[in-house]
Amino acid sequence: MTEMLAGKRGLVTGVANEDSIAWGCARAFRDAGAELALTYQDEQARPHVQPLADRLGATLLQPCDVRREAEMDALFERIAEAWGRLDFLLHAIAFAPRDDLHARVTDCSEAGFSTAMSISCHSFMRLARRAEPLMADGGTLLTLTFYGSERVVEDYNLMGPVKAALESSARYMAGELGDKGIRVHAISPGPVRTRAASGLQDFDALLEHARKRAPEHQLVGIEDVGNVAAFLVADGAAKLTGNVVHVDAGLHVLS
Ligand code: NAD
Repeated sequence: MTEMLAGKRGLVTGVANEDSIAWGCARAFRDAGAELALTYQDEQARPHVQPLADRLGATLLQPCDVRREAEMDALFERIAEAWGRLDFLLHAIAFAPRDDLHARVTDCSEAGFSTAMSISCHSFMRLARRAEPLMADGGTLLTLTFYGSERVVEDYNLMGPVKAALESSARYMAGELGDKGIRVHAISPGPVRTRAASGLQDFDALLEHARKRAPEHQLVGIEDVGNVAAFLVADGAAKLTGNVVHVDAGLHVLS
């Protein structure tokens, strides 16, 4: 894997701490030789993300709350100024209001649904739209999804339909951007203990189920997801686009 991404420059969103899936991906991108820009959600997050960005020798560290258009504009202006191009982007952002996340899908509020969709799904388009002009020589857009989009997974609730929309959006974007050499994938990891995951009710049961049921009888780590993300961005994956790539020790093939 060494230097598979030498000369490539990528933007990684969604690093909150060392447990974040985005952190596993950022490390794998860096280990493969990529130069990175990282974002943090707000000033509260910055002290946690700054040391991680330093460890990777990230060239840029910028605030980016996807609810703030101006912040997203400033982020891409900064990348254009510093690099003049972008080779890949990782979208690793999700949020749903707690009451709606813990309710039945049948009962979730319109406001909660809209917030979850905007932050967890439409933000991928908002970032992609800004990345597109910087990918004149092609590029890769990655997002993160979960199997609860395809099947009813207990307690995943509102995030199921949100991730289904995200996966479909990734396919449409792959169709639209393919002639520019821009490839789009959604990576679907098995359950990983992260801060976002701790918002789900009874996440331990989900982990235990995955460990027992997955054909490989193993849980997925952020380094496993990172290795696949690095491959998808590499030139060797140039003929792949529009996929939902399961990194789940095989769990999704079971009924
Ligand atoms: P995490 O808590 O480490 O990351 C979630 C990130 O979303 C955080 O960095 C947070 O700052 C960011 N975020 C939330 N609202 C934001 C906003 N308004 N603007 C900008 N950033 C915002 O948790 P994670 O599990 O690493 O989540 C990353 C992605 O992986 C999510 O899309 C999640 O749904 C997906 N995923 C997680 C699992 C799992 O089991 N942990 C499994 C499959 C997919």
